Amino acid sequence: MSEENPYSNASRRLENIAGHLNGTGYKEWRTLSPSQTLAVCTNRERKWNGYGYKDTFFRFDDEGTASLLGNRFEHFSSKEYHELRPWLEQTLRINLKTLCRAQPTMVEIHSPEVNHDFYDTIKPQGIIISFAEQDRLLHGHGISTIEIYKLRYGNFIRLPDAVIWPESHEQVEIIVKAAQKFNVGCIPYGGGTNYVDALECPVEEEKRMIVSLDMRHMNRILSLNNENMSVTVEAGAIAKDLEMVLRKLGYSLGWNAESIEFSTVGGLAALRSSGLRRSMYGDFENSIINMKFVTPIGTIKQSSHSTSSPPIYSGPDITNLLLGSEGTLGVITELTFKLHYLAPYRHYISMYFPSFHQGLLFLREIAQKKIVNNLSGARLIDETGLQLVHGFNTATPTITTVFKEVLKKYYWKKFKKLETGKMCLAAILIDGYDSSKMEVYEKRILNVGENYGGVNSGYDLGERMFFMSQGLPYLRDFLMDYYAISDYLDTSTSWSNIETLVDKVKEAIVTTCRAQNVRPKPYIAVRVDHLYETGVSLTFTYGFNCRNLADPLGILRRVDQVALVEILRSNGSVSHFPTGIGKRKKESFIESLSEPAIEIMKNVKKTLDPTNIFCSQNLL
Ligand SMILES: Cc1cc2nc3c(=O)[nH]c(=O)nc-3n(C[C@H](O)[C@H](O)[C@H](O)COP(=O)(O)OP(=O)(O)OC[C@H]3O[C@@H](n4cnc5c(N)ncnc54)[C@H](O)[C@@H]3O)c2cc1C
Repeated sequence: MSEENPYSNASRRLENIAGHLNGTGYKEWRTLSPSQTLAVCTNRERKWNGYGYKDTFFRFDDEGTASLLGNRFEHFSSKEYHELRPWLEQTLRINLKTLCRAQPTMVEIHSPEVNHDFYDTIKPQGIIISFAEQDRLLHGHGISTIEIYKLRYGNFIRLPDAVIWPESHEQVEIIVKAAQKFNVGCIPYGGGTNYVDALECPVEEEKRMIVSLDMRHMNRILSLNNENMSVTVEAGAIAKDLEMVLRKLGYSLGWNAESIEFSTVGGLAALRSSGLRRSMYGDFENSIINMKFVTPIGTIKQSSHSTSSPPIYSGPDITNLLLGSEGTLGVITELTFKLHYLAPYRHYISMYFPSFHQGLLFLREIAQKKIVNNLSGARLIDETGLQLVHGFNTATPTITTVFKEVLKKYYWKKFKKLETGKMCLAAILIDGYDSSKMEVYEKRILNVGENYGGVNSGYDLGERMFFMSQGLPYLRDFLMDYYAISDYLDTSTSWSNIETLVDKVKEAIVTTCRAQNVRPKPYIAVRVDHLYETGVSLTFTYGFNCRNLADPLGILRRVDQVALVEILRSNGSVSHFPTGIGKRKKESFIESLSEPAIEIMKNVKKTLDPTNIFCSQNLL
């Protein structure tokens, strides 16, 4: 791990990136042929009982060194993590000899409920439909810890009865009309990456046939307009596939959700998502200019002007009402996004701070005084989370590096007040169009940090902070093999409230775990993910050893609910990042709404979907 400022190293990388982009045709305008189909990651490449690619998983070798197999991630794959096992043994008390093996297949899959009138209507239209158990299982869940746990050790009471792959907007209209006519439930399916149990079938009182609408065959770019800087795409396009095509043309969608490899643009819109680079490019919804939305009463779209015109500021915005509807009001079939020029330069900065409090003061000044225009992303991890960041260190320890480390820690403690167990880590990402300005930006940020006791910890650690979230779901699944169970909760709150909220939520988790006989006490880390002038978004990651617990899932649910209640009580929002309400946060969501807001939402549902075809969840 490099802790000193590797500016020369960083400049070299920037040149590399710039060279690479020039080579791919930056500023060389090309027009895509309409209807260009994007590649699609098939379910064959994905695990059936865990997050992500089949060929990517953690394992311990004979010496107990952890590594991530596969070659999907430039920063993490095929690397050894020497500090991970000792840390896991200490915090989560995992024991390499005590394994909790997952079941090889799902024990029980109920037989499908078939509505023959519905089937006889859609089949002659050439619409692809499957009743295969494997397809139904793959489409019956997202990737929340509870869902993955059920796949590995339990069961789903209800799965979709069939999976349908519509191939056009018109086919979606046919399916929704038939579902309405013959009383069939529909659940739109994007990439299946939500964390909030949004895709699970309703269990009680739902006797109808339920079909999952996998949107990923609708993945064409319908038009790309260089003059207006906009792209219209079908909603099943995987965000990364689209971004890759756009980058070759010198554009970017900007926000960059970290589930980009699997999430569809429709799924991201349906959950009002956000991404790594939101500080510079805005949230997902800010990029949407237009969309087509199929409901049981017809298709909603803006028809009176060209799809790529600037937003209309007259009257209420219906599009905004539909964003975040999580598949409960209809199906998004097409989206028009505004494009950004791809920023060819990128730089990561990281700084250690003596405490979380000082790290927050640093970030607040960065956010409120707009220290640099091109701030793309920012993170701050607390003292507990920092240990995990260090666990992702790929350097092999030698006598010299260990000795240097001891000396450095001594120096830091004595002269910089940086103490292991108290210090935290901030990371900043800047994107730029002008290479000569990158060094200036870095200096400005470091100067602000130094005023709060910050010590420069280099490019590599900053880069690791941003990229490691991609590896975390793989680590979560791996740890289940060793009786360690973990989950995430996100919220947002004002600057003045952060520390009170963090303390209270941590306390609520610890107290609940203690009452449930969780031993040793849970691991809880807090991370600031996004900065706003008025506050931040926060993610809590918590986990515990469940070896001696009779009902790990029940305890996890209890901790989740108690923490959510405490978040609301402490003036946090019900959700922020990764976004969504789903079944997981439904009760807290309702609690956070005023009576008139609930009334409006109920009426919207009654108007657009009177027979509750879109039945995965009732957000109210
Ligand atoms: C490693 C990881 C990183 C993540 N990072 C981020 C992040 O940076 N930012 C973020 O916001 N989220 C993030 N998430 C959460 C998740 O990726 C998002 O919530 C995403 O929006 C889900 O998209 P999807 O296509 O996978 O949708 P799915 O999970 O398939 O579906 C989600 C919901 O949307 C509905 N839906 C899907 N497609 C449509 C459609 N076409 N029309 C109507 N409804 C539809 C479904 O019915 C369901 O209710 C992350 C998740 C993981 C696993």
